[in-house]
Amino acid sequence: MAATSEPANAAKSRRKAGRHRGEGQWAVGHFTPLNGNEQVKKDDDGLHVRTRIETIYSQRGFDSIDPADLRGRMRWWGLYTQRKPGIDGGKTAVLEPEELDDRYFMMRVRIDGGRLSVAQLRAIGEVSEQYARGTADITDRQNVQLHWVRIEDVPAIWEKLEAVGLSTTEACGDCPRVIIGSPVAGIAADEIIDGTPAVREIHDRYIGSKEFSNLPRKFKTAVSGSPVQDVVHEINDVAFVGVVHPEHGPGFDLWVGGGLSTNPRLAERLGTWVPLDEVAEVWAGVVGIFRDYGYRRLRTRARLKFLVADWGPEKFRQVLEDEYLERKLVDGPAPEEPVSRWRDHIGVHRQNDGRYYVGFAPRVGRVDGATLTKIAELAATHGCDRLATTVEQKMIILDVAQERVDALVDGLENLGFQVNPSPFRRGTMACTGIEFCKLAIVETKGRGAALIEELERRMPEFDEPLTINLNGCPNACARIQTADIGLKGQLMLNAEGEQVEGYQVHLGGALGLQAGFGRKVRGLKVTADELPDYVERVLRRFQEQREPGERFAA
Ligand code: SF4
Repeated sequence: MAATSEPANAAKSRRKAGRHRGEGQWAVGHFTPLNGNEQVKKDDDGLHVRTRIETIYSQRGFDSIDPADLRGRMRWWGLYTQRKPGIDGGKTAVLEPEELDDRYFMMRVRIDGGRLSVAQLRAIGEVSEQYARGTADITDRQNVQLHWVRIEDVPAIWEKLEAVGLSTTEACGDCPRVIIGSPVAGIAADEIIDGTPAVREIHDRYIGSKEFSNLPRKFKTAVSGSPVQDVVHEINDVAFVGVVHPEHGPGFDLWVGGGLSTNPRLAERLGTWVPLDEVAEVWAGVVGIFRDYGYRRLRTRARLKFLVADWGPEKFRQVLEDEYLERKLVDGPAPEEPVSRWRDHIGVHRQNDGRYYVGFAPRVGRVDGATLTKIAELAATHGCDRLATTVEQKMIILDVAQERVDALVDGLENLGFQVNPSPFRRGTMACTGIEFCKLAIVETKGRGAALIEELERRMPEFDEPLTINLNGCPNACARIQTADIGLKGQLMLNAEGEQVEGYQVHLGGALGLQAGFGRKVRGLKVTADELPDYVERVLRRFQEQREPGERFAA
């Protein structure tokens, strides 16, 4: 296997080896792998595993897969083994990884910019039906995740997806993940700037490129020119947020170093304005810093946020300008407060061309292949060829003629999707949870869906923007720290002293200019059975004590 090559920029800096050597930073000359993950990446580029999947593993079956590929490099092609069914959350931390591995895979399909054509959605629906037992979840990064995928079927799935311009390339792994983008880019009537060309350029130039296929860890990108700020830019490694520069006009404000997980950190502004045609170059500079200076010694410190925390935004910008762009960036203004607390585009909205887009709400992102195919057919029947996924696990049909809106809304309702959902259906998200995730301790999707139904029944009058996010473990795939009510799965004792599934409660998280992480309420844990009662109590207390005009903020 070929060793990962040393990038030119890092090579230039080899002589700087010194006090940061212990963090495994390439830029200071430390190329010796300091942990197993770094060794796997050095032994062979994650992108190379595709050939082995096509020529060996899919032919000879699951048992032929090299363990380093199985638990490492296959992620570069969007593949993780899923959790073996029937293993409860109490075993998550005590079993060896291979004991949790099922012989089936989760496959993540990247949807850059969240934008899908009818043909693409139809293809995902067909793949789901044919190869994934009908499973399909819309994720909170605009991807679609399939489950129950067999290694034997992976080449056929790729062929089907790639025939319509979709891929699983670098959908997981230590590389640039899906580029999230405003789902209404280019069509929203109130848009500051359309970021679509930048999303496309980053994708076409850098995704699947060896230049960035060995990063210290995953790297998350967001681009949006919407005044709603609809890509959760505050918690991405790099984000470009639409702003108007007083002299230069519309462009993007650059943010770096956001991320959640067990050490959450909000991104910081570098105070610079980036024009649309420079976004890809600046993006590559930021990723280059991460590749070369990012910490590789400990996986828990290998995200860009730790480097930004140590350097601060001034030094980060200076290194970006001096070593990567070799020019100064233009100073720029901060974005304004988002124009809406809902950032999901649910409902019927007029586009800039006089047509409409219609956002609707699957419950906690869960759909299925047959339903995705029906959504594609519904869109096509009403003359639409474009759809989108959102970072709230929701979907949008674009380009609906005015005279078609009512019929389309009826069609969606017939499929079980509401265009005017309750705040609970609209604002609740759940991660994958114990059904498929090997790190999970508790169930999430089913419980989130049940919570929505229970709250709708108990509190039909509640009408406030609200976010309730459920995670199945201490990681943050469903962004619990930024929710009004964040629920972190864990095991606990119930009143009878029995170990049961429950949640640690975090209250008062927010994004936007008042962004902050929810308070972990000391000692406040609720069992899964108590969850509807607890959430109802919190919401009723708010209703009773609210001041006029006060919004819900737990
Ligand atoms: Fe799995 Fe935990 Fe992420 Fe949920 S939050 S998908 S349980 S790793």
